[in-house]
Amino acid sequence: MEPGLTGCEGAMKAPPFAYRLAEDLPQALDLYARSEGEAVYLAGGHSIVPSLSLRLQAPALLIDISRISALAGLSVGPEGLRIGAITPHAVLLEDPLVADHAPLLVEAARHVAHPAIRNRATFGGNLVLADPASEFPAVVRALRAVLEVEGPDGARQIAADEFFLDLYTTALEPGEILRSVLIPPPAPGQRVAFAELARRRGDFAMVGAALRLVPEAGLIGSADIVFHSVGLTPMRAVAAEAALVGRALDEAAIAAACAAVAQDIEPSEDPVLPAATRLHLAGVLLGRLLRRVQGEWA
Ligand SMILES: Cc1cc2nc3c(=O)[nH]c(=O)nc-3n(C[C@H](O)[C@H](O)[C@H](O)COP(=O)(O)OP(=O)(O)OC[C@H]3O[C@@H](n4cnc5c(N)ncnc54)[C@H](O)[C@@H]3O)c2cc1C
Repeated sequence: MEPGLTGCEGAMKAPPFAYRLAEDLPQALDLYARSEGEAVYLAGGHSIVPSLSLRLQAPALLIDISRISALAGLSVGPEGLRIGAITPHAVLLEDPLVADHAPLLVEAARHVAHPAIRNRATFGGNLVLADPASEFPAVVRALRAVLEVEGPDGARQIAADEFFLDLYTTALEPGEILRSVLIPPPAPGQRVAFAELARRRGDFAMVGAALRLVPEAGLIGSADIVFHSVGLTPMRAVAAEAALVGRALDEAAIAAACAAVAQDIEPSEDPVLPAATRLHLAGVLLGRLLRRVQGEWA
C-alpha cells in the first residue's frame, strides 16, 4: 500500500480466511506457530481489514489479539509509562497518565485520523504497521521509547530507534507480538512539541515533526527531532539535533537547525508534492516547533 493510503480506496471483498480469537499471549503465539507463517495478527483491524478487501494480503488465518489482557492497560513505574499495545488511540487522548507523562503523544494523537478510527485503531497496530506517514512512530523515536515484544523465543526489548527498518517494515520477527511500549520518565526541564502540515485535519500529513529538548545549565543539553512523511521511515534529524546541542535556544541556533534539515532528509519526488517543497516545509515546521518551545524555555 502507498504510504498514507487508508486502504479504503476502491474496496472489494476479502479473500476467504479463518478467524480465531486468542484468549492470551501463549495461545496467540501457539496459533501463529501452527499456521506455518500463514497467519496475521488482528488488533483494531483498521489497516488489516482494508488491505484484505483490496487483496493486498491473503492470510489463511486472522488471530485476533484485541482481547488479550496482557496487551492492555497503562501503568507508571520507575522505568516510565508503559502503554499496552492494544490501547486505542482515543485512550491516549483521554488518559491522565498519558497527559502527565507523555504529553507529546497526546499532541500527536489529535492529528491521527478521526474519532471513529481512534476508538478502535490501536497504538501497537499503528506502530507495527510502520506507515511512514504516521505520527506515533515519530513520537516514540523522539521520546526514545522501548518496544516490548513477546515471541516464540521469549520476550525482548527493541529501542524505537531500531524498530522502523523500512517502508511498512519493522524489526519484529515473524510471529512476534508487540506487547507494550515503555516511555522513559521525562528528563528534568524537558520540553516537547509536535506539529504537522496536512491538507485537512485528520488527513495523513504532508510533513510532520516531533521535538524533544532537554536543558542543561541554561543551554540545550540534548535534542530529539524526528520527522514523519518525509521518507520510508520516521526520520531522525541528526544534523539538526547536532546544530542545537550545547547552544542557547536563540534565533541563530534555530536558523542553524532549520538549515541542517537539508542534510537529514531527502524526500522523494511526488506528483502531488515536489521533493523541494516537502523539504522546505520540514524546515518551516521545525522552526515553528523550536520557537514554540523557546517561549517556555527556562
Ligand atoms: C480512514 C483512516 C484514516 C487514518 N488516518 C491515520 C492518520 O492520520 N495517522 C495515522 O498514523 N494512522 C492513520 N490511520 C491508521 C490507524 O491509525 C492505525 O494505525 C491502523 O488502523 C493500525 O492499527 P490497528 O489497531 O487498526 O491495526 P490492525 O489493522 O489490526 O493491524 C495492522 C498491522 O499490525 C499488525 N499488528 C497489530 N497489532 C500488533 C501487535 N500488537 N503485535 C504484532 N503485530 C500487530 C497486524 O498483523 C497488521 O499487520 C488511519 C486509518 C484509517 C482507516
